[in-house]
Amino acid sequence: MQEQARLPCVEIRNLVKKFPGVIAVNHINLKVKHGEVFSLLGPSGCGKTTTLRILAGLETADEGEVLIEGEVINDVPPYRRDCNLVFQNLALFPHMTVEENLAYGLERKRVPKSEIRKRVGEMLEFMQLNGMESRYTVQLSGGQQQRVALGRSLVLKPKLLLLDEPLAALDRKLRKDMQVELKRIQKEVGITFFYVTHDQKVALAISDTIAVMREGKLEQVASPEEIYDTPRTRFVADFMGATNIFPGKVIARGGGEIQLETESGLKIVALADKASNNKTITGVCVHPERINVLPTGPDVETENQFNGRIVGMIYQGDFVELKIHLLSRKKDVSVTAHLDARLSRKDSFAVGQEVTIQWDRDGSSTLHG
Ligand code: ADP
Ligand code: MG
Repeated sequence: MQEQARLPCVEIRNLVKKFPGVIAVNHINLKVKHGEVFSLLGPSGCGKTTTLRILAGLETADEGEVLIEGEVINDVPPYRRDCNLVFQNLALFPHMTVEENLAYGLERKRVPKSEIRKRVGEMLEFMQLNGMESRYTVQLSGGQQQRVALGRSLVLKPKLLLLDEPLAALDRKLRKDMQVELKRIQKEVGITFFYVTHDQKVALAISDTIAVMREGKLEQVASPEEIYDTPRTRFVADFMGATNIFPGKVIARGGGEIQLETESGLKIVALADKASNNKTITGVCVHPERINVLPTGPDVETENQFNGRIVGMIYQGDFVELKIHLLSRKKDVSVTAHLDARLSRKDSFAVGQEVTIQWDRDGSSTLHG
C-alpha cells in the first residue's frame, strides 16, 4: 500500500499515435501525481483529445505505454479501467432524468439497488441538485447539466477522472463559476483529474500541474506559476499571453544575470534561468502587466528602460491596454502594456503621447527556442 501511494497515479511513457498524414501524439512522457489536477493545455489539433482517448482506452497507442498506479494498461479494455471520461458535449442521456443519469453507471456495474439509491442521493446533495432528480436533463441550465455530467462520473468513485474541455460550451460567466466549483469538488473528493483544455485561463485557475502541448509534443510541464512567469519557449510564452517577445542574442552573462541584445537593437537585462543553463537563450519575454509606463522620461536611466510613443489604447474594463511604439531603434518594435485600471486613469495617457517604459529584470523570462 505504502509502495502504491508513492507511484504516480498515471504515467505515460514514449506514447505515439499516428493518423494518416499526422502524428497526433509524438513521443510524450508524463507523470500525474495522486490527487492532483493535471492539465493538458494546447491549441486545437495539438493531440489533447487523442492522448485522453488513449488513457480512456478508446484509442490504441502505436508505441509506448500507459500505466495506472504502476500497472501497464495498454491492453485493458475501457470498462475495466478505473477511470472515467467527461466529454466536452457532456453526452447526457436526454431520455433519462437526472436521477437515472446519475444511477446509470452504477446499474451497469451491477451495484445493489439500495447502494445505488444511497450513492445517488449523496451525489444529488453534493452537486446541489436536490429537488431536480425527476427532471430531464434538457430542462436544466448549462451549469446544472454540467454538474449532472460530473456527478455521473464521480458517483462511480473512479481513481482518475478524464475531462475533455468540459467547460468549453459554457458562457464566460458560468465558465468562471464552474471553474471554482470544479476545484472545490476535486479537493473534496480527492480524485485525480486529467484535464484537457485549450483555454489557458481555465488551466491556470484549476491546475496543480500544466503540460503545454504543441503538435503532438510536450513543450513544458510545470506548475501554473512557473508556466506563466517563466515560460521556456516562445510558443509557451505566446500561448500564455506574454505578448512581448523579444528574440535576440546573449551579449553578456554573469552574476546570475544576462544581457541580451534584441533583433530590434534593444539591450535587455534579465535573470539567468538556472534550470536551463546549458540551453541557448533565444530571447526574452515580458508580460504586459509587468511593464511600467511613465508619462514623462525620468532623469535617471535604469535597466530595461526605453522611450516610445503610444500608438493605441484600448479600455478593457479591469485594465487599459496600451500599444507603445519604441523610438529610434534599428528595427521597429512595439510593446503592449497593461495598466491596472484601479491604479491608473485612462485619461492620464493619450494616443500620440511620448512615454517611458520600464520593467524589472525579474519581470522578464528567458526563452530557449
Ligand atoms: P485536440 O484535442 O488537441 O484538438 P486531437 O487529438 O483531436 O486534437 O487531434 C490531433 C490531430 O489528430 C489532429 O490533426 C486531428 O485532425 C487528428 N485526428 C484526431 N482523431 C483522428 C482520427 N480519428 N482520424 C484521423 N485523424 C485524427
Ligand atoms: Mg480535443
